[in-house]
Amino acid sequence: MEVVITPPKTLAILAQKAGKSVDELVKTVDTYPFALTHFLRQRVEEGTYSLPALRQFLPDAQELQDVAGFSPDPAGESGKHPIPAILQAYDNRLVILLSYQCLVYCRFCVRKALVGMPEYTITHEQIEQALAFVRTHPEIEDVVLSGGDPLAVPNRRLLPFLRQLLAISHVRAIRIDSRALSTMPKRIDDELLDVLKTDDRFWYHAHMNHPDDLHHPDVLAAARRLRMAGVPVLNQSVILAGVNDDPAVMARLMSECYYHKILPYNLYVLDRVKGGVHFEVAEERIVEICETLSHLPGPAQPVLIFVDGESRKHRAVYDPVTDLHAFLGARNAAHRPMENVSALR
Ligand code: SF4
Repeated sequence: MEVVITPPKTLAILAQKAGKSVDELVKTVDTYPFALTHFLRQRVEEGTYSLPALRQFLPDAQELQDVAGFSPDPAGESGKHPIPAILQAYDNRLVILLSYQCLVYCRFCVRKALVGMPEYTITHEQIEQALAFVRTHPEIEDVVLSGGDPLAVPNRRLLPFLRQLLAISHVRAIRIDSRALSTMPKRIDDELLDVLKTDDRFWYHAHMNHPDDLHHPDVLAAARRLRMAGVPVLNQSVILAGVNDDPAVMARLMSECYYHKILPYNLYVLDRVKGGVHFEVAEERIVEICETLSHLPGPAQPVLIFVDGESRKHRAVYDPVTDLHAFLGARNAAHRPMENVSALR
């Protein structure tokens, strides 16, 4: 597998690109881990990956602020583990956490307090327990593979796991939730595809937040390989200040996904995770983005989502009769009061 690059050399390149001090970046990654793939670093160096796109992975001293309303576990996931490697908020589906390692560390991640931290690991035994759990719960028909990034797990461990999951006949869909497509497209390799194409239960959930994530021949080729293997590719995005909180940028992202047969699926409002405050977007701007997206062709329009403190998703389709202010107000009510946010943006 391609090596993931960690500090210090990459941090120096990013600091220069962002006009920040290396010290700021180093201080931040002492608390929250950092990684960038060779693929993305190369794109940064050759100038095909812009600063707004890079901000998804760029350490920022604001991560170290402790702001009221931003918590280490905003989606209440810690109370949703029947066993360590499973996250379950619904009766008929669940998430298997395959690893707490990622190919890149998104600075706004809802699991920011867990991913890449040396004290959190998922063991082989815990994965075996997760498989046993699914096997003995026939009501589970839909399994999401997450983490961390499930494709940060090497094929020698991932592929036997996938084969065991495929052997469970009541599982009707397996969704691979991974950032590999846009951050390490070569990870969608022949060995993996050979397993994916043996069964039509696989889906791939991409996570792209900026048009630059998609605009590279290797990314488009990897998406095509998945489709040719019979795996539908859907995209999930998060509305992020400084990355895609511009209606024109977001419209371009959704259109380009659609025209390349990557279906825009979910558009998340930021989970108010501790360390992610600088990505918060004002309600007015979210409404403006949604209004712009409502003019795109139907399949290019994602559903707007926020996740409440019980890990449950609330969805809105934005059309002239949808009251998005009421929808977003319900998001505030579903979490603790936000004393400081109005002052942020
Ligand atoms: S790849 Fe996924 S789990 Fe890992 S940091 Fe990014 S959003 Fe979080």
